[in-house]
Amino acid sequence: MFSELALNDRLLKAITKLGFEKTTPVQAQAIPLALAGKDLLVSAKTGSGKTAAFLLPSLHRFLENPAPDSGTRALILVPTRELARQVLKQCSQFADFTNIKSTMIIGGEDFKFQKSQFRKNPEIVIATPGRLVEHLDAGSIDFKDLEVLVLDEADRMLDMGFVEDVMHIAKACNNKRQTLLFSATLKQRGLEEIIGEALNEPEKLILDTHKDEHSQIRQQAVLADDNDHKDKLLATLLENETYNKALVFTNKKVQATRLCGLMRYKNNRAGVLQGDLSQEERNHVMSLFRNGQVNVLIATDVAARGIDVDGIDLVINYDMPRNGDDYIHRIGRTGRADSEGVAISFVTSFEWNLKAAIERYLRHNFEKRTIKGFEGKFKGPKKLKSSGKSAGAKKFKQEKKGEAEKTKNRLRDKKNVGKRRKPSTKPEPGSNTHKRSDAGFEPPKKRI
Ligand code: AMP
Repeated sequence: MFSELALNDRLLKAITKLGFEKTTPVQAQAIPLALAGKDLLVSAKTGSGKTAAFLLPSLHRFLENPAPDSGTRALILVPTRELARQVLKQCSQFADFTNIKSTMIIGGEDFKFQKSQFRKNPEIVIATPGRLVEHLDAGSIDFKDLEVLVLDEADRMLDMGFVEDVMHIAKACNNKRQTLLFSATLKQRGLEEIIGEALNEPEKLILDTHKDEHSQIRQQAVLADDNDHKDKLLATLLENETYNKALVFTNKKVQATRLCGLMRYKNNRAGVLQGDLSQEERNHVMSLFRNGQVNVLIATDVAARGIDVDGIDLVINYDMPRNGDDYIHRIGRTGRADSEGVAISFVTSFEWNLKAAIERYLRHNFEKRTIKGFEGKFKGPKKLKSSGKSAGAKKFKQEKKGEAEKTKNRLRDKKNVGKRRKPSTKPEPGSNTHKRSDAGFEPPKKRI
């Protein structure tokens, strides 16, 4: 319960207004530690309620210790503009009954306007690293008074090449501040460097056990032959599945745009979200998706990071994501805060190994699903015969044994050079009876 967290009454009022009843696990564990002023290193999945886990303790601290003459008191760094928007929205909701001001600084928006925002001295700045570094370098803002630095989705920031910017910003912050780092995984390469630079003896909270994660999401795999086949599968699923809002992921921007056109042609209310769109176009499609005018959003990973839209209950991976973490981020868009969802991945023969690797990573096997009337030729890799070794492998072993025997004989012959040979009953090496016949030899079959 939130009331057990001893949060300021004005925050509890906002929480009640939002309809949050119980704390999520990340909130229950991280909020007390953050309130105690500890640095935190938290691995928590997308959709776990981590935004409230870092916003509420910071807001509580500012309400309990007003500092009207202070500069910016909290800085929240996020990887994407979309996520920045969502964090700002939650922040305004939690701060509804307070006078705490927050502002958002993201790329693609007017620099001078942003500079004027800093002059209003907001307590909380939510920013993407690239644009914030420009402001720091231009002297528009400083973080000398900073009390809390939050690095949200730190793994994503690394993925997107923000490591230097994050380090630069962390160095510019008051070094007595508290730092809270949230990441879907703590195994990301480069994370150690940031942790070493930005955190001070952090408490570590691991809330993700891949297995339990997303238990409210049914994860299915549909085998596909090629893009043509995938197009048909997608159109059929969008026509026949029961869903409120669907999010379709592709690995390439052009593919996303093409599919959007195709799905519109098939009478879907489809929109596209990919990195080449202007900020205005992104905002437009996101608001259409939020209000339901668009109910199928076709997106690439980078563009879709941080999307938190209510009612997404179907995620389709038109292309398999490139790794397990991307998969988790994609499917985390559905089944948020314990609602239910379905995630369907299309898998061609080229994507089979990737699917297997992701299953191993998640320690969870996808349900195999076929779409009636659209079964393809690809049925999964050919299985090796289960009764021990394959015929090819057996033959290979016999051949190897033969080779070893021959080598042994050759060595013995070498040792016996100049000695009289005893009459032998065994045929001479190299005689016809020992001759290896390569005809009909098959190397062992490789797994695909
Ligand atoms: P997040 O992981 O912070 O992006 O949160 C995912 C979604 O869960 C957001 O839409 C939040 O508004 C919602 N949420 C967060 N905490 C709670 C809670 N304790 N109860 C219900 N919904 C929540």
